[in-house]
Amino acid sequence: MTIFAKIINREIPADIVYEDDQCLAFKDISPQAPMHVLLIPKQAIAKLTDTNEEHKHLLGHMMVKAGEIAKQQGHDEFRVVINNGAGVGQSVFHLHLHLLAGRGFQWPPG
Ligand code: 5GP
Repeated sequence: MTIFAKIINREIPADIVYEDDQCLAFKDISPQAPMHVLLIPKQAIAKLTDTNEEHKHLLGHMMVKAGEIAKQQGHDEFRVVINNGAGVGQSVFHLHLHLLAGRGFQWPPG
């Protein structure tokens, strides 16, 4: 079980900012920007590349919620990041969207 599954199950605490039947959003424990929220599905999916056509509704739902959560946190401008694989920085193998805002960001990303 990943640390995020434990957060879903309330086995470890988190600063939860949004929850519904399909997903959960909470503040990152090591924020990289003034707003750094993690949005995760409740379903245990390790990586974006583990999804398929059956996950279309869930993934679309999460994208809509990403925008709503960022706005609710006071940010019209924000960045969404998914790290897919250890080689690009994924450290928790439960799919998550990073929602980042409140400072300047470089492009291309580092
Ligand atoms: P990744 O590197 O997999 O894309 O992102 C994992 C994120 O989870 C990191 O930004 C890290 O700070 C965050 N994180 C790891 N453990 C915990 C935890 O126990 N609680 C919270 N709120 N965030 C965590």
